[in-house]
Amino acid sequence: YVKELEKLKDVEVKTVDGEFVNIFSNVEINEEISISNEYKAKGIGLYRTEFIYLEKGDVSEDEQFEILKDAVLRNENKPITIRTFDLGGEKLSNLLPHPDEQNPAMGLRAIRYSLRFKDIFKTQIKAIHRAAVFGDVRIMFPMISGVEEIRQAKNVVEECIEELKNEKKEFKENVPLGVMVELPSLALITHLINKEVDFFSVGTNDLIQYTLGIDRNNEYVAYLYRPTHPAVLTLLRKIYKDAQKGGIEVTVCGEMAGDPKYIPVLLGLGYRNLSMSPSAILKAKMIISRVKISECEKLINSLKRCKFARKAEEKLEKFIDEHA
Ligand code: PEP
Ligand code: MG
Repeated sequence: YVKELEKLKDVEVKTVDGEFVNIFSNVEINEEISISNEYKAKGIGLYRTEFIYLEKGDVSEDEQFEILKDAVLRNENKPITIRTFDLGGEKLSNLLPHPDEQNPAMGLRAIRYSLRFKDIFKTQIKAIHRAAVFGDVRIMFPMISGVEEIRQAKNVVEECIEELKNEKKEFKENVPLGVMVELPSLALITHLINKEVDFFSVGTNDLIQYTLGIDRNNEYVAYLYRPTHPAVLTLLRKIYKDAQKGGIEVTVCGEMAGDPKYIPVLLGLGYRNLSMSPSAILKAKMIISRVKISECEKLINSLKRCKFARKAEEKLEKFIDEHA
């Protein structure tokens, strides 16, 4: 088994019926990029910048530029999707301003925090545009709830570009801009935003949390956290179809994408770009290389007919037993 995993290191993975699946990495610190390269990931699908702030507090533009440039160079010209900081919620730093909140998961988190503390946001946007000179960089905004926030974030980007020009700094101008689809409100209107942005990335961790109303870190309700809940499957299918209609790329970057159990579900729904922790890559390649897309599609048809999430889980487990 270990030998079989090792063999998968270098391969570009495809299903039994010959469909290629692109695997990307989720990265929190630059050191992880070497594992991503070693396992032949197609690039970085999610670079979580909040860890820079959690470690250092409010970092200067130059310091961020150096960290991001280092990440971009280590990634060797492959695409790297840099997510603007997802601070707030459970990711708080004593070194940064933050009000007391009764309900932080629904409070001043991610893009809301960025738009509220615009100077911190602008510093980051400028650093990313400067690092983009050194590779194939894309920018992604977390926890977008609707079109207003997309427009506001784009306006900030415009402002930053003007300032970078005036400051005569070297930077890249047309960096692709995308959004995390991780709130049900955005998932329900992907048909309205597939022309507003250059790509979607599906954050299943939060999408499931907010769709099912379950705190993703609360053990008492963990039994209700079900990626195969019909509501979740319906949203995932819609997001995929609307990305297709808009002609934009879509990647899944939540935990589901790196979980061998749920990969067949995502393939059956249409997804071909999966971003996961580098440590999950080999096992992901293994399951992909053992299934047929046609079977995954059949699996989805049968899951969709399940009224009970528990029943859906049972069907899925049977499928996995037969293939893994
Ligand atoms: C997600 O919500 O699925 C996601 C990838 O983002 P994070 O886990 O950082 O919230
Ligand atoms: Mg998230």
